[in-house]
Amino acid sequence: MKKELPVKRNETYTIDITGQGHEGQGVGRIDGFTVFVEGVLPSEKVEIKIVKAAPSHAFGKLLNVIEPSPARIQPFCSTYKRCGGCQLQHMTYEAQLEFKTNIVREAVQRIGGMEGVEIKHTIGMNQPLNYRNKAQYPVGVQGEQVVIGFYANRSHEIIAGTQCEIQHKRGFQIAGKIKEFIEGKGIPVYNEKSGKGIIRHIVTRVGFSTGEIMAVVAANADNLPYKDELVEFVEREMPEITSLVHNINKKNTNVIFGEQNKVLFGRGYIIDTIGKYQFKISPHSFFQVNPVQTEVLYSKALEYARLTGKETVFDLYCGIGTISLFLSDNFKKVYGVELVQPAVEDARENAKLNGISNVEFICGEAEKVVPEMYAKGIRADVVVLDPPRKGCDRVLLETVAAMKPERIVYVSCNPSTLARDLKILDELGYKTKEIQPVDMFPQTYHVETVVLMSRVEK
Ligand code: SAH
Repeated sequence: MKKELPVKRNETYTIDITGQGHEGQGVGRIDGFTVFVEGVLPSEKVEIKIVKAAPSHAFGKLLNVIEPSPARIQPFCSTYKRCGGCQLQHMTYEAQLEFKTNIVREAVQRIGGMEGVEIKHTIGMNQPLNYRNKAQYPVGVQGEQVVIGFYANRSHEIIAGTQCEIQHKRGFQIAGKIKEFIEGKGIPVYNEKSGKGIIRHIVTRVGFSTGEIMAVVAANADNLPYKDELVEFVEREMPEITSLVHNINKKNTNVIFGEQNKVLFGRGYIIDTIGKYQFKISPHSFFQVNPVQTEVLYSKALEYARLTGKETVFDLYCGIGTISLFLSDNFKKVYGVELVQPAVEDARENAKLNGISNVEFICGEAEKVVPEMYAKGIRADVVVLDPPRKGCDRVLLETVAAMKPERIVYVSCNPSTLARDLKILDELGYKTKEIQPVDMFPQTYHVETVVLMSRVEK
């Protein structure tokens, strides 16, 4: 027999919000039964309607804030709820940073089982807006008009014509002008359902420190109609664009770019810097989206990793080699290991671009490559780990510990897998010394963390 739940769908309740889940949703209880509500904050009393009930918890929709939290503010974006790209705009920035520190603390205590490890206060931005250097605007048709914008939460409906406040300001203006050109010439816009039409996305990438800007038009055609006129238009109207690229994407999928690029003018890439190092960014290149905070994060990693300059470091999950280059001055030799071949090629090119010769990049799975290196007698004095959300493979952690580096610096985008891996490393003889969260993605629930671990003599 189905057990009766203490809450009913479509019923209204008044509840006290007592906590916050890791995606920023408020948590409260009705007769001890957990209810998640988006857009509410701890210490608030709110009126909600239950929209979904599962055996162990329910989801409520906010109807009315009866007693607001002092941390509540008016979201700056009019499409905050529809878009879903940000989750914390209704909190003051100080409260967002505190929320992130707490998320890391809770994971380290609950999953990592570590008490008494200091979690530093999350390092925020002076200006937590307009921080993203890469924007991808879908192009669509609404009524008679060609529009650009962002997809609404969990849909492909375009929210048209609003500037996204976490994006670099120029991106939207540039995409808007290119859209006007497309509309003026009557170039057909791609239709996802029929697979017909040409123009799909406009992508902009901005080098924050160099001012270089690349615009990429993703189109379902080998040749872009009115290509010469577009080049002339962009050069005349937007001289700040240093490169314009046509990306050919003829596949009927959600992926924004196809494999092939045609450079319409400029070099086909931009350069940006992190610290004193230059990076080449092509349409397909991965590059951290918040370059200002990336430098903060890497400087912390460097501070944690720094030894005397005579040692070897492994930068595992190295991407395009940003951390490797950042550390190259302070180490005798840096080995970067990365799974994705084009990222490894970018890493090698970036090393060359910066005249750095003491770094070597190896393509492969860290959990396979590192045991092979160790078997050949190559070992690290310091290991940097920066894995994807799922964290590190256990075999890798065991090999790293067997190598006995003095320190491990762990950079993580997921507090839960970080805490799990810290616990494993703790059992393998590495003590967590310091935990520093950094806010790379203001207004969203995402948090990046850098951790210093030291080997315990046994
Ligand atoms: N350290 C980089 C990128 C970190 S993102 C930076 O700061 O920019 C994580 C990276 O790990 C991605 O580039 C991904 O391709 C890579 N990766 C995923 N699984 C891997 C594995 N098993 N071995 C090595 N690299 C892996």
